[in-house]
Amino acid sequence: MAGLIKREDVETVRARARIDEIVGEHVALRPAGVDSLKGLCPFHDERTPSFHVRPQIGRWHCFGCNEGGDVISFVQKLDGLGFTEAVEYLAARTGVQLRYEEGSGPRRGVDAGSRQRLLDAHRVAAQFYAEQLTSPEGAVAREFLAERSFDRGAAEQFGVGFAPTGWDALLRHLRGRGFTEGELTASGLVSQGQRGIYDRFRGRLIWPIRDVTGETIGFGARRLFEDDQGPKYLNTPETALYKKSQVLYGIDLARREIAKHRQIVVVEGYTDVMAAHLSGVTTAVATCGTAFGEDHVRVVRRMLGDTSARAGVQLSSGASLGGEVIFTFDGDAAGQKAALRAFGEDQRFFAQTFVAIEAQGLDPASCGWLAGRKPWWTWSPGGSRSSSS
Ligand code: ZN
Repeated sequence: MAGLIKREDVETVRARARIDEIVGEHVALRPAGVDSLKGLCPFHDERTPSFHVRPQIGRWHCFGCNEGGDVISFVQKLDGLGFTEAVEYLAARTGVQLRYEEGSGPRRGVDAGSRQRLLDAHRVAAQFYAEQLTSPEGAVAREFLAERSFDRGAAEQFGVGFAPTGWDALLRHLRGRGFTEGELTASGLVSQGQRGIYDRFRGRLIWPIRDVTGETIGFGARRLFEDDQGPKYLNTPETALYKKSQVLYGIDLARREIAKHRQIVVVEGYTDVMAAHLSGVTTAVATCGTAFGEDHVRVVRRMLGDTSARAGVQLSSGASLGGEVIFTFDGDAAGQKAALRAFGEDQRFFAQTFVAIEAQGLDPASCGWLAGRKPWWTWSPGGSRSSSS
C-alpha cells in the first residue's frame, strides 16, 4: 500500500500545524469566548458565523452544516485532498520530515497528476519563465514592462516571466526534471496536438497565479508578438489546481492586508494589481480571464468576515462598520459594463460596496498609481441594498 505515513509523524504534523493559522488563511476569524474563534463557514453559504475553531484542542466545528474535525480534515475538505496528501501539504508547511511505513515510500511519481506533483511542476515552470525574462529573447517582454514603468525589482516581486517562442522549451525543461506526460497534461502547462503535447504558452509575458498560501497554481499570459494569432490574454485551463471562477490574482500578497484593513480592491488585470501594490494599495486583486462572480464573492466575503449583524448596524446608523469592497475598472465602455456586471453581484455583500470608474478613460496601470498621484477615479457609493430602487 503506497504512501502510508508513520502514525507518529501524522501526530507531529497535527500538533505543529496551527489550526487557527491554517483556517485563518481562508476565513476571517474573530474571538468568540474563551479559547474559541468564529467565522463564516467555508463549506456552506451563510451570513452569520457558525463556524467555530478551538486552537487549544485543534478542532473546528460548524453548527450550521454540522461538519467538524481537525486541521487535517479541514485541509482535506477545503482542497478536496486525500488524507495522505493533506498531511504531506501540512508537513511541507510546518517543516516536518515525513517517514513512510516499510515498502510504501512517498507517493511522488507513483500517483501521476497528484496535487503535489502539479504544484511541483508549476514551481519549476514559474522559475523557468522568470529566468527566460532575462534571456536575449525576453527583450520584448522586458520592454513591455518598462513601458509600463515596471522595473526589474517589480518583475521579481511578482515573479513575472517570459515564455519563449517555439513549441517545446518548457516541455523539454519539465521532462528533464522527470515530469511525465500524464503530469504535464494534467498541469495545463501543455496542450494536446495531433502529434503530441506542446507548450501552451509561447512568446508571451507570464504572470504566476498563486493561491492564498503563495503556491503557484496557474499562469496568466499576455500576447507580445504581432503575428501571434492567439487571444491577447491566455490563462491556464481548468485543472485540479486551477478553478478560474475562484482564483484571484494577487490574493497571496493581499490576504493579510485584506484581513487587516477589512478592505478589498478589485482591479481589472495583472498589471493593475502590480501597479496598485507598488503604489501602496496592498489590498488589490483581479479576477483571471473571467468576470467577478458568485464564487469570488464567497471567497472575498469569508476573508472580510462579512456578517449580516454588522451590516444591520451599518445600514441603520450609516457608519461603515462592515468591510469595504471597491471595484475599479477602465473608464471605457467595456470596462464600465464589466463594473456594472460585478456591481450586480454586490447584493451578495452586506459590506459597503463602491464602484470606482476612472474618469478620463485611462487604464489604471497607465496613470496615477505609479506616479503616486491622488486617486483618479470617481467614487459612487452604492449597492442595491442601500439604493432606493
Ligand atoms: Zn458550515
